[in-house]
Amino acid sequence: MSTLIESEEHTALRAAVAALGKRYGRDYVARTLAEGRHPTELWSEAGKLGYLGVNLPEEHGGGGGGITELSIVLEELGAAGSPLLMLVVSPAICGTVISRFGTQEQKRTWLPGLADGTRLMAFGITEPDAGSNSHRITTTARKDGADWLLTGRKVFVSGVDMADAVLIVGRTEDARTGRLKPCLFIVPRDAEGFQRHPIDMELNAAEKQFELVLDDVRLPADALVGDEDAGLLQLFAGLNPERIMTAAFAIGMGRYALARAVEYARERTVWKAPIGAHQAIAHPLAQAHIDLELARLMMQKAAHLYDAGDDTGAGEAANMAKYAAAEACVKAVDQSVHTLGGNGLTREFGLASLITASRVSRIAPVSREMILNYVSHQSLGLPKSY
Ligand SMILES: Cc1cc2nc3c(=O)[nH]c(=O)nc-3n(C[C@H](O)[C@H](O)[C@H](O)COP(=O)(O)OP(=O)(O)OC[C@H]3O[C@@H](n4cnc5c(N)ncnc54)[C@H](O)[C@@H]3O)c2cc1C
Repeated sequence: MSTLIESEEHTALRAAVAALGKRYGRDYVARTLAEGRHPTELWSEAGKLGYLGVNLPEEHGGGGGGITELSIVLEELGAAGSPLLMLVVSPAICGTVISRFGTQEQKRTWLPGLADGTRLMAFGITEPDAGSNSHRITTTARKDGADWLLTGRKVFVSGVDMADAVLIVGRTEDARTGRLKPCLFIVPRDAEGFQRHPIDMELNAAEKQFELVLDDVRLPADALVGDEDAGLLQLFAGLNPERIMTAAFAIGMGRYALARAVEYARERTVWKAPIGAHQAIAHPLAQAHIDLELARLMMQKAAHLYDAGDDTGAGEAANMAKYAAAEACVKAVDQSVHTLGGNGLTREFGLASLITASRVSRIAPVSREMILNYVSHQSLGLPKSY
């Protein structure tokens, strides 16, 4: 990539992470899945190399970079076939929120571990009765002396079994009605009254999704991250990185699938020339490549704005990047599977399961339609239907 778009340091980071990804790749992921375990070796090696915490402050063990660098890490691991979904959550959302709004004590307790990968934090905002409408969340914190008591339910929370704690988005009792004033709590994995149940997903991934039940979970005062009145500002400090990182996840997956299809189309010959010579095969692959490149440009813009401290500008760009990357990923995977003919559906070639996986970025963390709503209202000033 031209150094006019990406600095030499970023190009070097990309190459180094790609080399790590190559050593692991799809075979490693397939092996860990078959053995029913987490990709621990890749996670800890990436942690030791400083890649997991590349966005976190240096004084707390991170690399002192931003979401720009972290998105490069995730994109390249994904392009090698071995993405680490929890990068979207642990360093990008939780690490960012704690480093921007946490107390010194919270930073000292969590950031070094999140940075080197020895600790991991999940993130729970989605609720069964709220879904895309996060203003309707009802997980409620009430004061009991100096402590908090947290009660509610969450769904689809990723990686809770891998995590030491979950950053839970709730609201305080006096904010139960009216506009959402979210507040964020660190809930340790083994807290009393905190249960998790795996959701049976049709996803071939090490990161499972969980339903969480919080039944009067007692938390000390310092479980609250940031100010209970700072509300949406704090939440969006974590949600913009989440969108940018989901874009990186989608672009990585799209690139991985596209590369397999191109390899195949160059070799597979059923008439005189390889199938890649037929424009019906070549052009959709070329379009997929263009769409992925365009999505990456928007992702770079969003990451750049976010890292420069422009939360508002980053909000629009992060939504657009997530949208563009998800659509590019879904199309790239679909076309790649098709390019392989029957082999596209075999386990040996390993592309078919990406059809389901590629849909994740269209739904989460914010669906395609909610981004189109955002752009209709915020960017274009059109009226709201809901
Ligand atoms: C694999 C995976 C991992 C996830 N990980 C996490 C996690 O770690 N933490 C977490 O908190 N959550 C997580 N989620 C949840 C995810 O963020 C939600 O699924 C997502 O926000 C959508 O909410 P919902 O599923 O309730 O869909 P709903 O809100 O019920 O939406 C259903 C459909 O209706 C459409 N729709 C809704 N409202 C409107 C409207 N106003 N206009 C037009 N269309 C509309 C949506 O676009 C969607 O297509 C994960 C989900 C998945 C699938």
